[in-house]
Amino acid sequence: MENNKKVLITGADRGIGRAIALAVSVAGYPVIAHYRRNEEGAQSLETEIRSKGGEIELVRFDVRNREECREQLAAVTEKHGALWGIICNAGICADNAFPALSDEDWDTVIHTNLDAFYNVIHPLIMPVCRKKQGRIITIASVSGINGNRGQVNYSASKAGIIGATKALAVELASRSITVNCIAPGIIETDMSEKAPLDMILPHVPMGRIGKAEEVAALAVFLLSETASYITRQVIAVDGGLV
Ligand code: NDP
Repeated sequence: MENNKKVLITGADRGIGRAIALAVSVAGYPVIAHYRRNEEGAQSLETEIRSKGGEIELVRFDVRNREECREQLAAVTEKHGALWGIICNAGICADNAFPALSDEDWDTVIHTNLDAFYNVIHPLIMPVCRKKQGRIITIASVSGINGNRGQVNYSASKAGIIGATKALAVELASRSITVNCIAPGIIETDMSEKAPLDMILPHVPMGRIGKAEEVAALAVFLLSETASYITRQVIAVDGGLV
């Protein structure tokens, strides 16, 4: 059991974040599960993890709100000290052809996906640096690598996360802290519900949509001691997307 290595996961109430929280807990890490609106989802996660003998605590904030993040995460640090793992998963998309994107589509996606990197990791980082151990994992997207039609805002935010992840990895490497990025392809969650699968799947050699658990498995590996020499990497979980 890794029971002194606490791991924060943002957006843990549903989708990929929930699958990560469950897998991380099964691997023996105490989980600090973040959510925003979905109290019911967060509570059912808490019940499920406890019923399997895992440790979980819930924390609630909007990743766009810097002050709220600082306040809530200062309380997390005060209570738990340096976290072992920080997994920045919460994110949104607001897709449209570029000429049709609204100011709000641009701002909300950038604030939610990219600002969250700073808003969530920055308040937690000093104790991790002092302890000279830890794992930071960001969830970007293949859209941030390839650029997807109708996702100029989303691709920009995810490419920003990739750049930030790589730069932070370089800064923290001498302290034995790894910083890596997972880039999922098309994964079955609420977010991909309206995705045009008939157009996407021909580009997926495996010919199917991915499961949140298949992303979670990589997060668990990257959190492990075994992954200690893997840093500054962007690893796709995409069925071989071309
Ligand atoms: P979901 O829509 O199922 O879940 C998104 C999560 O992010 C929810 O918990 C949501 O909380 C949270 N969130 C959104 N906005 C905020 C906010 N302002 N403050 C706090 N939390 C917020 O999406 P997925 O599980 O599919 O996506 C998880 C991550 O994976 C995202 O970063 C996404 O971009 C990425 N990804 C997903 C892919 C896919 O095909 N599904 C492909 C590539 C990347 P709330 O319930 O309050 O909205």
